[in-house]
Amino acid sequence: TDLAHIRNFSIVAHIDHGKSTLADRLIQETKTVADRDMKAQMLDSMDIERERGITIKAQTVRLEYEADDGQNYILNLIDTPGHVDFAYEVSRSMRAVEGSLLVVDSTQGVEAQTLANVYQAIDADHEIVPVLNKIDLPAADCDRVAEQIEDVIGIDASGAIQVSAKTGIGIHEVLEAIVAHLPAPRGTLDAPLKAMLVDSWYDPYLGVVVLVRIMDGKLRKGDRIRMMQTGAVYPVDRVGVFRPGMIPVDELTPGEIGFITASIKQVRDTKVGDTITTEKKGCETPLPGFKPSVPVVFCGLFPVDSNEFEDLRDAIEKLALNDASFSHEMETSAALGFGFRCGFLGLLHLEVIRDRLEREYDIDLITTAPSVVYHIHMKDGETRELHNPADMPDPSHVESIDEPRIKATILVPDEFLGDVLKLCQDRRGIQLDLTYAGSRAMVVYDLPLNEVVFDFYDRLKSVTKGYASFDYQLTGYRADNLVKMQILVNDEPVDALSTMVHRDRAEMRGRAMVEKLKDLIPRHMFKIPIQAAIGGKVIARETLSALRKDVTAKCYGGDATRKKKLLEKQKAGKKKMRQFGKVDIPQEAFISALKLD
Ligand code: GDP
Ligand code: MG
Repeated sequence: TDLAHIRNFSIVAHIDHGKSTLADRLIQETKTVADRDMKAQMLDSMDIERERGITIKAQTVRLEYEADDGQNYILNLIDTPGHVDFAYEVSRSMRAVEGSLLVVDSTQGVEAQTLANVYQAIDADHEIVPVLNKIDLPAADCDRVAEQIEDVIGIDASGAIQVSAKTGIGIHEVLEAIVAHLPAPRGTLDAPLKAMLVDSWYDPYLGVVVLVRIMDGKLRKGDRIRMMQTGAVYPVDRVGVFRPGMIPVDELTPGEIGFITASIKQVRDTKVGDTITTEKKGCETPLPGFKPSVPVVFCGLFPVDSNEFEDLRDAIEKLALNDASFSHEMETSAALGFGFRCGFLGLLHLEVIRDRLEREYDIDLITTAPSVVYHIHMKDGETRELHNPADMPDPSHVESIDEPRIKATILVPDEFLGDVLKLCQDRRGIQLDLTYAGSRAMVVYDLPLNEVVFDFYDRLKSVTKGYASFDYQLTGYRADNLVKMQILVNDEPVDALSTMVHRDRAEMRGRAMVEKLKDLIPRHMFKIPIQAAIGGKVIARETLSALRKDVTAKCYGGDATRKKKLLEKQKAGKKKMRQFGKVDIPQEAFISALKLD
């Protein structure tokens, strides 16, 4: 296709502002899918994504559009993941297109993810078309929201298109604006192949599918291609485009976005952001800015039933084939037996993987507290990465510990500002900026990631009644006064409950944890001390009193059916418990104990 008739774009929006619905309307308006085959959220494929209303993998669709100027255009939409865990994937897919539709809910206004995503688009030099969505709702206030876009983001919103992705108002105008305002891609057909590996995933029928954007040259079935980062060479089996089903084509040329399959065994062998060229006479310099995505949050996954370890291993290995950013290695815990230490891009990523293991593979899991990656500088000059607090070396050999920091952006209505500032302050935050836009404040904080991974987002939502929005990016590592805190139950350390904490906050956290555990652990026939300790020194202590005889007597009295029910309940409860020495600890305790509220 000639370049002048191609437009490539993505849609950036805060969650729930209507990105998927707008994509559906664009697919429908261009008759890419017959009306009878339309279902809601065409581009969100995985079940979990549908349920949670989030898109994780970049999805693509090629729309063919006859514009009012009488010319036929190809419009390629890449729908990028909207969640911060996948920011790197987003930034790569942004580089595969020339423009963005900025969708803002006209009843809500600019939110934290709107900002995070639009800055990515601006970084990628995109032309941006503002779209005000949900104008069918009585609360729509287009003037106010357009003004806010200008104030907060600093782009011209006078030509913002007013649409209802629900009813279809304004969709034609959006298509016209894409053609008129977004630049055509550039590239040279007679140059060596240079293509960006935008994303990849495992398809049960086709194997590994690679989403590519052609920069220069052409890509055809039968070509032998080379991945410039990994050096691997593959023969191309299939070349095609998404409409949104996979349709084979003869070749992909500059400016085009499509897929290839090439007998690649594992998704791991494809690095997002890599440059694809031909094995012979390839291009010389790869596309700039490649960096592999690395896990930032680690936790242990253990089967509740230790007989399920092999099943867990199989399941994890299968998932890992399909997700290059998920890492795993075997771990043994004195308390939990055999399991895996797994690395994730963030908490959502962790949850998605855990859900899939439980649902698709039917394995009951114990998830240990998520931990960030610390850099431990040893006195002998060595630097170690610490993925698991249980592996913390003897503090007498440690010179210093660095922890990852983030820049967090929070948008919040004025009335909740005080609570948000307090929350950030409590989490060792340093305020970087505070500005106002209308009746909303924008707060920017430097925060330790370890104070955020856990329950920060839940807390933020609860103190602001759901009105705050939040986004973050990793900024780097910095030293702080960090120590390992252990939890002892019945005088036995439970390694899976070890955490890294700031020295000044250790007492407070220790106290909160032992109090929580006291509620979470059921009473036994004997007294159970629950303690928090740093290097052998106890800093907090609770005692779970023993069950009194008459309580059990009462339980076991009563009629037969009630007794049976109780026994069944007990059995079900047992299944979710783990024994530590003589004490049963319920599965949920490992996560709940760490939540601060
Ligand atoms: P996304 O998270 O940005 O992909 O948002 P969705 O497309 O999933 O939309 C979020 C919710 O807003 C859904 O319940 C949609 O039905 C609804 N929605 C989207 N666009 C409109 C619109 O123009 N008008 C109204 N009334 N609702 C809309
Ligand atoms: Mg969506």
